Amino acid sequence: MPDGTASRPEKGASVRLDKVSFSYGETPLVFDVDFAAAKITAIMGPSGSGKSTLLNLIAGFEMPLSGRVLIGGADVSAEPPSARPVSMVFQENNLFAHLSVEQNVGLGRSPSLRLTEADQTAIAGALERTGLAGKERRLPRELSGGERQRVALARVLVRDRPVLLLDEPFASLGPALRDDMLDLIAAVHAERGMTVLFVTHQPEDARRIGQHVVFLDNGVVAATGRAEDFFAGAGPEVFRRYVGASA
Ligand code: ADP
Ligand code: MG
Repeated sequence: MPDGTASRPEKGASVRLDKVSFSYGETPLVFDVDFAAAKITAIMGPSGSGKSTLLNLIAGFEMPLSGRVLIGGADVSAEPPSARPVSMVFQENNLFAHLSVEQNVGLGRSPSLRLTEADQTAIAGALERTGLAGKERRLPRELSGGERQRVALARVLVRDRPVLLLDEPFASLGPALRDDMLDLIAAVHAERGMTVLFVTHQPEDARRIGQHVVFLDNGVVAATGRAEDFFAGAGPEVFRRYVGASA
């Protein structure tokens, strides 16, 4: 496994961005936020508000200009993505076209696909869990869009990291399929207790499985709170307006 982490944070590690600033050249983005450990947090906000950038900073695909990224209390700001205790699923799944379902999932355990018996067991379990049993030998092009996203999810489930980042992975799926996937994530979270940060522009998704909400606006954290309170109407004005507009 490519996980050379010096410290090994627990499942459900806390995630904190301590005055992290970032810029693509124009608008500065500043994230100062503490994600509740071992919870499911929905990251919401208008298009361009910085949701993907926030996850990329946590995963290490982008480096902060200033400030620190802390996971499980450890400063990982200088660590490359492979050394961080996180795994991420993107909106566009990045499966290898020439590898089978089983091999694509296996990459979550071993980049060289040299798999032990324990790896095989974990892979079979994740395929079963994501409803892909029986499709092990198929290639990505022989799957539906929903099935391909399941493969991407199975791959992070076998990695089994303390923090799971999801950047709108189900945006292209219909509502019923999306609900299935969300429920699967909630079930895995209930079993394993990992910290889940998921980006969605669907208030329904956040309401369904989100325990906390972090709301971004214009590259800053505009509001945070318990999902229950936010959806009961106790959220700040900026959130209520957004949910009202996108509902
Ligand atoms: P969201 O995921 O909430 O839609 P992003 O994090 O992708 O927002 O983008 C935040 C801001 O950074 C936006 O203004 C966007 O245009 C800009 N941005 C995002 N990615 C890039 C990039 N690769 N190059 C330049 N600007 C970018
Ligand atoms: Mg985005």
